[in-house]
Parts: sequence; structure tokens; C-alpha cells
Amino acid sequence: MESARFVRVLLRRPDLRTPFPARFATRLRGRAVRRLDRRAKYLVAILSSDETLVMHLGMSGSFRVERAQKTKRGVRLQADLGPAKAGPHTGTHDHVVFHMSSGFRITFTDPRRFGFMDLLTPRELAEHPALSRLGPEPLSSAFDAAALARACRGKKTSLKAALLDQRVVAGLGNIYVSEALHRARLSPLRLASTIATASGAPRPAAVRLAAAIKQVLWQAIARSAKAYRRGDRFRVYDRAGERCRHANCRGTIAQRTQSGRTTFYCPACQR
Ligand SMILES: [Zn+2]
Repeated sequence: MESARFVRVLLRRPDLRTPFPARFATRLRGRAVRRLDRRAKYLVAILSSDETLVMHLGMSGSFRVERAQKTKRGVRLQADLGPAKAGPHTGTHDHVVFHMSSGFRITFTDPRRFGFMDLLTPRELAEHPALSRLGPEPLSSAFDAAALARACRGKKTSLKAALLDQRVVAGLGNIYVSEALHRARLSPLRLASTIATASGAPRPAAVRLAAAIKQVLWQAIARSAKAYRRGDRFRVYDRAGERCRHANCRGTIAQRTQSGRTTFYCPACQR
């Protein structure tokens, strides 16, 4: 999509989770994608019109990327690069199709329709309740122990709640917060402020935690579908009652609810 133009935009229904913005297809057509990026759980395309196309997969959304190949009988689609293995034909749950000038066709499929797309002007982007206040991307160099400590300084919420707060760090979900806290041997119940000094400098806990967050996410990206099916995806998440996986720890993984979300942790080694 990057540096390609939208040649055709096909909407096969008026809405996803929310209605498509006014004149959605018209505002996209002819515009080029300057840059494709991610912010938290949003996919973001910055357009030559200065508008930003914001996309979210919701619960069940995925994009299928196919290259259109010119043949004697017209255009054939092949080279399925996306996770959905449907053929070139448009399926029941294919709600949006982008035909790009690069020859690629990008199809958004979403059976449950919790995903959404929006088109924001620079001003709307700057005032967007979620996007304008996002913390640093966890895998970027902007996110480190110092940034984490600054964000947690004086915070009287649990460390778990702080890490789920998108203003502290962007796009970290419930599962990976549990995993990172276990790896860093930090209790989800301790106060967020305890990883920083009074002036907001990182304590050793912040250094361990920032590193653990990056490790957990890199591992998640690298992990194969095979491991996922084997069920050894997580070290602590969804393992209540099992032995702690830290060497030399005899603890048992506990489960409790914090601000409406399930937390899994080892009370023995996570302090
Ligand atoms: Zn343990």
C-alpha cells in the first residue's frame, strides 16, 4: 500500500462496528498512502490528502493481500499473502476491498464485525480521544525504563492497571501484561509508583519490566503457529493452579480479577 494510490474502493455494506465515514470511498480514491504505521492496536495509513485512514481489526478482522496479475482473460488474483486462505473471490465476510495502483488488492474480512475504519482530518486526529493520547509504542526506542518510570511516577493504581493504560504504553493487552509481569517477577498488585523514584527516575524494577515487555512482544511475533496449537503459548496466562515456570520457584499460578480483567501471576516470586 505504501506509495500506491487507491484506484477503487469497494464497500459491501454501510458499516462495520460503526458506519463508514461520509464519502469514504470518494475521499480515498486517487489518494496515495504516504506511510503505513501502527499505533497501539490501530493500523494507520497517512494519505497524500493529509487525512489519516484508521483501521482496527476488532475481534475477528483480517486483511488479505493479493496481487492482481493481468492475463489474456483479464485480471487474475494470486499470491495470497494474508492469513485468510480464501480464494480470489469475494466472500460473505469481505466487507471492504481496496484496489491499489501497485496492482495489489487488499480485502478486509471480518465475520463478527467488531472492526472499524475511519478517516480523520489532521485536526480530528489531534483531538481523537484514543489516538491523540497514546503512550510510546513498546517496541520503539522511545519506550524504555526511563519512559516507563516517568509514566508511572506517583501513580496510585496497580501496576497491572497502569500497563493496560494506553497513555503509559500503547497497545499492550491483558495477556502480554500478565506475561511481562511474570517475566520481570513483579506483582500485578503492587502500586505502579513503586517502580519509579519520587522524581520519576527508574528503579531496577522499571528496568526489568521495560525489558520484559519488549522480550514478550518480540517472542509473540516470532512464535510459530505450531507452538500456538501445541498450547504452550504463554508462561503464566491461563495457567491458574499450575507450577510457576521460573526456575527455582515452587509457587503456584494464581488467578484474580483486577479492574474487570483476569490476572494470572505467581504470588511466590512476583513481588
Ligand atoms: Zn513463581
